[in-house]
Amino acid sequence: MHSEYVDSFSSDLARTRADLLSEYFNCQREMASGEYRKVVGSGLEEGDRSTMYHFDQMTLFKLASFKKQLDQIDRALNMIKSGDYGICSCCHSEIGVARLRSVPFAVHCRDCQEQLDRQVREKTGKTAC
Ligand SMILES: [Zn+2]
Repeated sequence: MHSEYVDSFSSDLARTRADLLSEYFNCQREMASGEYRKVVGSGLEEGDRSTMYHFDQMTLFKLASFKKQLDQIDRALNMIKSGDYGICSCCHSEIGVARLRSVPFAVHCRDCQEQLDRQVREKTGKTAC
Protein backbone atom coordinates (compact mmCIF):
# COMPACT_ATOMS: atom_id res chain seq x y z
CA MET A 1 0.00 0.00 0.00
CA HIS A 2 2.28 2.80 -1.23
CA SER A 3 4.38 2.41 1.91
CA GLU A 4 7.24 4.31 0.27
CA TYR A 5 4.97 7.37 -0.04
CA VAL A 6 3.10 7.20 3.28
CA ASP A 7 5.60 9.31 5.25
CA SER A 8 5.52 12.00 2.57
CA PHE A 9 1.68 12.01 2.44
CA SER A 10 1.53 12.02 6.23
CA SER A 11 3.79 15.05 6.60
CA ASP A 12 2.02 16.90 3.75
CA LEU A 13 -1.36 16.23 5.38
CA ALA A 14 -0.09 17.33 8.80
CA ARG A 15 1.32 20.56 7.32
CA THR A 16 -1.90 21.29 5.42
CA ARG A 17 -3.88 20.55 8.59
CA ALA A 18 -1.81 23.03 10.60
CA ASP A 19 -2.27 25.72 7.91
CA LEU A 20 -6.02 25.11 7.72
CA LEU A 21 -6.36 25.17 11.49
CA SER A 22 -4.53 28.49 11.61
CA GLU A 23 -6.81 29.94 8.91
CA TYR A 24 -9.86 28.52 10.71
CA PHE A 25 -8.94 30.24 13.98
CA ASN A 26 -8.04 33.50 12.21
CA CYS A 27 -11.42 33.45 10.51
CA GLN A 28 -13.18 32.75 13.81
CA ARG A 29 -11.23 35.53 15.54
CA GLU A 30 -12.03 37.98 12.73
CA MET A 31 -15.74 37.18 12.97
CA ALA A 32 -15.77 37.39 16.78
CA SER A 33 -13.94 40.73 16.75
CA GLY A 34 -16.60 42.28 14.52
CA GLU A 35 -13.83 44.17 12.73
CA TYR A 36 -15.65 44.26 9.40
CA ARG A 37 -18.75 45.61 11.13
CA LYS A 38 -16.84 48.78 11.98
CA VAL A 39 -16.05 49.25 8.30
CA VAL A 40 -19.66 48.73 7.21
CA GLY A 41 -21.13 51.49 9.36
CA SER A 42 -23.56 51.82 12.18
CA GLY A 43 -25.51 48.71 11.25
CA LEU A 44 -28.73 50.65 11.61
CA GLU A 45 -29.29 51.22 7.91
CA GLU A 46 -30.86 48.43 5.88
CA GLY A 47 -27.89 48.46 3.48
CA ASP A 48 -25.44 48.11 6.39
CA ARG A 49 -27.39 45.16 7.81
CA SER A 50 -27.51 43.54 4.39
CA THR A 51 -23.75 43.92 3.95
CA MET A 52 -23.08 42.58 7.47
CA TYR A 53 -25.39 39.64 6.80
CA HIS A 54 -23.43 38.96 3.58
CA PHE A 55 -20.09 39.08 5.47
CA ASP A 56 -21.46 36.80 8.20
CA GLN A 57 -22.71 34.30 5.62
CA MET A 58 -19.38 34.33 3.75
CA THR A 59 -17.46 33.82 6.99
CA LEU A 60 -19.72 30.95 8.06
CA PHE A 61 -19.31 29.37 4.63
CA LYS A 62 -15.50 29.66 4.93
CA LEU A 63 -15.57 28.13 8.42
CA ALA A 64 -17.72 25.22 7.21
CA SER A 65 -15.36 24.68 4.29
CA PHE A 66 -12.30 24.67 6.60
CA LYS A 67 -14.09 22.23 8.91
CA LYS A 68 -14.93 19.88 6.04
CA GLN A 69 -11.30 19.91 4.84
CA LEU A 70 -10.00 19.36 8.39
CA ASP A 71 -12.36 16.39 8.81
CA GLN A 72 -11.14 14.89 5.52
CA ILE A 73 -7.51 15.32 6.56
CA ASP A 74 -8.13 13.85 10.02
CA ARG A 75 -9.82 10.85 8.40
CA ALA A 76 -6.82 10.39 6.10
CA LEU A 77 -4.36 10.68 9.01
CA ASN A 78 -6.38 8.08 10.96
CA MET A 79 -6.32 5.79 7.91
CA ILE A 80 -2.53 6.15 7.77
CA LYS A 81 -2.36 5.09 11.44
CA SER A 82 -4.65 2.10 10.86
CA GLY A 83 -2.85 1.07 7.66
CA ASP A 84 -5.90 1.63 5.46
CA TYR A 85 -4.58 4.74 3.73
CA GLY A 86 -4.56 4.53 -0.06
CA ILE A 87 -7.13 1.71 -0.21
CA CYS A 88 -10.42 2.47 -1.95
CA SER A 89 -13.31 2.15 0.48
CA CYS A 90 -15.57 0.83 -2.33
CA CYS A 91 -13.54 -1.70 -4.34
CA HIS A 92 -10.62 -2.15 -1.88
CA SER A 93 -8.02 -1.71 -4.60
CA GLU A 94 -5.08 0.67 -4.25
CA ILE A 95 -5.76 4.30 -5.01
CA GLY A 96 -3.25 5.54 -7.58
CA VAL A 97 -0.31 7.60 -6.31
CA ALA A 98 -1.10 10.36 -8.81
CA ARG A 99 -4.62 10.63 -7.40
CA LEU A 100 -3.32 10.70 -3.81
CA ARG A 101 -0.84 13.41 -4.77
CA SER A 102 -3.63 15.60 -6.12
CA VAL A 103 -6.25 14.55 -3.51
CA PRO A 104 -4.25 13.27 -0.51
CA PHE A 105 -7.43 12.65 1.51
CA ALA A 106 -9.11 10.58 -1.23
CA VAL A 107 -10.98 7.52 0.07
CA HIS A 108 -12.08 6.27 -3.36
CA CYS A 109 -10.06 5.28 -6.41
CA ARG A 110 -10.63 7.38 -9.50
CA ASP A 111 -13.00 4.87 -11.12
CA CYS A 112 -15.19 4.51 -8.01
CA GLN A 113 -15.21 8.29 -7.42
CA GLU A 114 -16.27 8.90 -11.02
CA GLN A 115 -19.02 6.32 -10.64
CA LEU A 116 -20.20 7.90 -7.35
CA ASP A 117 -20.10 11.38 -8.90
CA ARG A 118 -22.13 10.15 -11.87
CA GLN A 119 -24.74 8.52 -9.57
CA VAL A 120 -25.10 11.67 -7.47
CA ARG A 121 -25.26 13.87 -10.58
CA GLU A 122 -28.01 11.69 -12.05
CA LYS A 123 -30.03 11.89 -8.80
CA THR A 124 -29.48 15.48 -7.77
CA GLY A 125 -27.65 17.35 -10.46
CA LYS A 126 -24.82 17.95 -7.94
CA THR A 127 -21.41 16.33 -7.39
CA ALA A 128 -20.80 13.62 -4.75
CA CYS A 129 -18.48 15.59 -2.46
ZN1 LIG B 1 -12.46 1.81 -6.06
